[in-house]
Amino acid sequence: MLEHDVLVVGAGLAGLRVAIEAQKQGVDVAVITKVHPVRSHSNAAQGGINAALEQEGSPDSWEAHAFDTVKGSDYLGDQDAIEIICREAGPEIIELEHMGVVFNRDETGHLGVRAFGGATYSRTFFVGDITGQALLHVMYEQVLKANTRIYEEWFVTSLIVEDGVCRGVVAMDLATRRLHTIKAKAVVLATGGAGRVFEPSTNALIVTGDGISQAYRAGAPLMDMEMVQFHPTTLKQNGALLTEGARGEGAYLLNAEGERFLGNERNQFYAPSKMELAARDVISRAEQIEIDAGRGVDGCVLLDCRHLGEDLIRERLWQIWELAMDFANVDIMKDPVPIRPGVHYIMGGIKTDVDGRAWDVNGGGWGGVKGLFAVGECACINAHGANRLGANSLLETVVYGRRAGLTAGFYVKEAPTALLSEAKMADDESRIKEIISRPDNGDRWAALRLEMGEMMNSQVGIFRTKENLEGALEKIQEMKLRYRHVPIQNKGNIFNTDLQFHLELGLMLDCAEVIALSALSREESRGAHYRLDFPARDDEKWLKHTMAYYTPEGPEMDTLPVTITQWEPTERKY
Ligand SMILES: Cc1cc2nc3c(=O)[nH]c(=O)nc-3n(C[C@H](O)[C@H](O)[C@H](O)COP(=O)(O)OP(=O)(O)OC[C@H]3O[C@@H](n4cnc5c(N)ncnc54)[C@H](O)[C@@H]3O)c2cc1C
Repeated sequence: MLEHDVLVVGAGLAGLRVAIEAQKQGVDVAVITKVHPVRSHSNAAQGGINAALEQEGSPDSWEAHAFDTVKGSDYLGDQDAIEIICREAGPEIIELEHMGVVFNRDETGHLGVRAFGGATYSRTFFVGDITGQALLHVMYEQVLKANTRIYEEWFVTSLIVEDGVCRGVVAMDLATRRLHTIKAKAVVLATGGAGRVFEPSTNALIVTGDGISQAYRAGAPLMDMEMVQFHPTTLKQNGALLTEGARGEGAYLLNAEGERFLGNERNQFYAPSKMELAARDVISRAEQIEIDAGRGVDGCVLLDCRHLGEDLIRERLWQIWELAMDFANVDIMKDPVPIRPGVHYIMGGIKTDVDGRAWDVNGGGWGGVKGLFAVGECACINAHGANRLGANSLLETVVYGRRAGLTAGFYVKEAPTALLSEAKMADDESRIKEIISRPDNGDRWAALRLEMGEMMNSQVGIFRTKENLEGALEKIQEMKLRYRHVPIQNKGNIFNTDLQFHLELGLMLDCAEVIALSALSREESRGAHYRLDFPARDDEKWLKHTMAYYTPEGPEMDTLPVTITQWEPTERKY
């Protein structure tokens, strides 16, 4: 049996940051990842990473960043978590710089910033429009330097929980299809989001919510799963993202009449002062209203970068120039490009405390699983509440990655060694064998996945109603039944991606169910969650987190209070 002190599942920015920090504690750390580390979705992050860095002459402060984040979250973010992420942001940027990230600089040679949505001051540090790639490669070098063991192209199939404590995982070596039990005193999930539960999505095909569903099945509660972010600027053709950095640099959003519609009062979601730099939920709704009212262009509105000039686009927005050229055949230097809102990020996830622990150390009454940690997009430390501000997510991966790595490092020094059975591995082996043995007829997983994604997009989308959500839940139940009979065509053992994608779909269906039920339970509109039948924010009843617990019959819903430290909820306008 393989064995480590700390096992990190995921090699995106969150997982690698955890590994670097845990390793510094002198414990045995390993990372397991279903793709090569630099193919993790973090690699696709474009626009940047936020921090109120105390630079000479800057009016910015971590408190201003924290207030913007609280307001951005529509007051659902836990303010203790928000204070930490904003306070620790500055030192973390400097540390990244010292590790070797070549951030853009301004004319004076200082680290340069660009504007981003929902922010009072420009505080987004960036590397052109390939910030995630720059960060991930540097972080990967650090992990290589530390000689951390990486199980590359290994797929975690289940968590092993015995006596209420997480003691390891079952994982499949994709090259051979062989299952292994990996024992660990602490398991840190850093498996990323669940964007592909919706179709289309800006997320990579691998972003399938694996860790979220596995933690849920293992007994860890999921928080605020209804909070799914639609990004305002995604390409019509394939849902690819065009960074908010474009608007940060000054790009406009136009309707078919060439009007910057965010300034027009006629639109109930207009944002007269912030315009294109309002929060994402507000802009996405405004766009959808324009499109639905027939003021769009072919189901889209337009992103206009022409006035930014060739030099700026070449230097700072080159990747999106290429994306628009390749997929939409539009040269953004010469023409506006059609875009529409698309699923991008999940604010909800595995409930943790501010050190990444997915169990309730402080007697808050929410349970969880001891020995299990979560960080990055799969986690809900709750720094984003009902709507994440752009460029706060990369920040979360590093700030909370460091904290979780440190805490896990300490935790395993005290944790007793336990004997571990291989029963879970035997269960998974027979589950997989049964899938392989299914007769090759009926539904295909690819078709079912697309059906689920498109249904989620239309029924659990930007505008939601009780009727739509109940319909979605019914369809998910029906899809879960069908899933039980879906076969795979590849019966072989070597890189059986047919099998991997099949297992992923099973996990995605659980995520879909929790998202839809959480959305049905929240009878108000807040941040990304907009209910046409409950169009107002209702602080009296719903200044609360939704919590979903696994039961064999389906999710059981509960709530938890929101932590308020210094910012009382007020009206949110941009
Ligand atoms: C196109 C795009 C652009 C973005 N731009 C920005 C930006 O500019 N600024 C910003 O702040 N945020 C941005 N975001 C959001 C941000 O990039 C992500 O939230 C963040 O990078 C997630 O990091 P992570 O480490 O949590 O997960 P990921 O980077 O998604 O990594 C997940 C890891 O888990 C592993 N894994 C998953 N399941 C399994 C399994 N079953 N077994 C083994 N391994 C598994 C994967 O192999 C992978 O290594 C963007 C997101 C997208 C999609």
